[in-house]
Amino acid sequence: MERSKRQVHNRLLSTLSARDRALIDPHVETLVLSKGDVLFEPGEDVANVYFPGAGTIASFVLGLRDGTVTEAAMIGQEGAVGGIISHGQKPAFARAVVQIGGGVIRVPAAALEGARQRSVTLRDHFARYADCLLAQVLQSVACNAVHEYDARLARWLLATQDRVGNSRLDVTQQFVSEMLGVQRSYTSKVIHQLEGAGAIEHGRGFIVVKDRKRLTRHACECYGYLRRHYEHLLPGVYPTDERS
Ligand SMILES: [Zn+2]
Repeated sequence: MERSKRQVHNRLLSTLSARDRALIDPHVETLVLSKGDVLFEPGEDVANVYFPGAGTIASFVLGLRDGTVTEAAMIGQEGAVGGIISHGQKPAFARAVVQIGGGVIRVPAAALEGARQRSVTLRDHFARYADCLLAQVLQSVACNAVHEYDARLARWLLATQDRVGNSRLDVTQQFVSEMLGVQRSYTSKVIHQLEGAGAIEHGRGFIVVKDRKRLTRHACECYGYLRRHYEHLLPGVYPTDERS
């Protein structure tokens, strides 16, 4: 983690009113994080809240005894990682790890709690975000249980692209497989299918979303549900543009 002077744009913060933003701004620190940086481990006190900037992605991952890890939620410029709703420094349940490095805004959890105590609208904004994050986890449970892997992978690529803001995603097939809890050979097969359909291209260590509309047709309905829930609860926070 390095301190940075560059501007970091997080949409959960940028959509706050000037008054609410002024409660948080004195406590803000900007950092650059690298892939693999761990923000907190299960059981650790959550001392800081991290607001990823455009292009940065962190995930809550759960590790099991057999060594496998799976992604429970993906957080980028639309959200925050840490005690956004709980009071004080509660122990973390999942590991929070940086998946795609970049700028992030860090705010001490105690300072954020102080700001929340002083503003009903700030509390409401973060409570709405917590609901969106819970929705993402709930939808993932249904998605993982019911939907085919090609639809889940297409959904994951769309969600990643939203947060990265670019058609090139610097992710390996091994990484995608781990996040979605499948064998790498299966991922490779499905990536070739999506490539054959003209939706994506891939190379060593990256995947390019070539035709977002086609990729959207392959994705399950979970992608649209979550996006609409976000837009309903927190207008202007989920990154959208003319891509789709
Ligand atoms: Zn699904």
